[in-house]
Amino acid sequence: MPQPEIVVTGAGGFIGGHLVAALRSQKVGRIRAVDLKPPESWYRRFDDVDNRQLDLRRREDCLEACAGVRDVYQLACDMGGMGFIENNKALCMLSVLINTHMLQAAQQHGAGRFFFASSACVYNADKQRGYDVTPLREVDAYPALPEDGYGWEKLFSERMCRHFAEDFGLGTRVARLHNVYGPHGTWDGGREKAPAAICRKMVEAKASGDHRIEIWGDGRQGRSFTYIDDCVEGIGRLMDSAVHEPINLGSSETVTINDLVSIVEDIAGIRLERSYKLDAPKGVDGRSSDNTLILERLGWAPSTSLRAGMEKTYAWIHDQYVARGKGRDYRV
Ligand code: NAD
Repeated sequence: MPQPEIVVTGAGGFIGGHLVAALRSQKVGRIRAVDLKPPESWYRRFDDVDNRQLDLRRREDCLEACAGVRDVYQLACDMGGMGFIENNKALCMLSVLINTHMLQAAQQHGAGRFFFASSACVYNADKQRGYDVTPLREVDAYPALPEDGYGWEKLFSERMCRHFAEDFGLGTRVARLHNVYGPHGTWDGGREKAPAAICRKMVEAKASGDHRIEIWGDGRQGRSFTYIDDCVEGIGRLMDSAVHEPINLGSSETVTINDLVSIVEDIAGIRLERSYKLDAPKGVDGRSSDNTLILERLGWAPSTSLRAGMEKTYAWIHDQYVARGKGRDYRV
């Protein structure tokens, strides 16, 4: 069998699974999909793809992942929602092993293009204080004061990408992803993010008849949420571009967490009594994506409305919840 031309790492996760699905349907080349988890537990798995279970903190596993490939999509990362990243800073920092070894392996195997999934968590915390959200421009990452742990690791790895490009000619691309959501992702267990958590709480409230919801923080935090299809399309457009500096890949539609809860209430057709857990991890006060640069450089920006994306996400989480109640595994 010929060597795959593309490797997607973190392929058993949320964005990686969608990316493999998109690349597969675009028939852009043979694909290798890699994750730490066994393929049976991946959110999306395709039998015509070279699926491998590897630990990319290990250099030899990165060398195996990158052997013979032209394009690397590096999404593997030990991460989760706010509850996870605020309580597991050392684990978040250790993803630097994955990024270091993946860059070295890609360079060693002569890969042409290397995509790195960075995050809006790299932005300076001082620019995200207060509920009046000023959308973040790429320059707002400096002077550096990123999210402790997770954000520092992402910022450091962004810089490694830059230096691998400058010093070794590796064709790196870096997207700062903003709160990606959609079907086929983590929706319970402690690593889920706000959109999935709110959908799950709504489904549970409907099922139990207990019409109350606990919200982390006071609900006034401002955020933008990016639908998965926009994220995957943006990654493809960035990979095909000559943009090498970090670029925002996020929706600019800004809402509060309270607004998000109201949207899901409308979709679910119920109203819940809200209580606010003020000492829970809640992240920064306000964050949204300034899309001037992506529009200028790629002539495109995410456009799926939050309502449309949340309808699909809610429907999927509802189905997983029902399937689990019937004893079925929710993964495919
Ligand atoms: P995810 O947790 O669903 O997927 C990450 C995958 O990486 C998991 O399947 C995990 O098993 C795998 N992984 C972890 N350690 C590994 C290792 N040592 N070797 C191999 N695989 C390993 O997360 P996601 O939401 O799909 O995010 C993908 C990427 O995008 C991550 O790098 C993340 O930091 C970045 N990102 C995501 C968001 C978001 O909102 N989802 C926002 C900003 C950045």
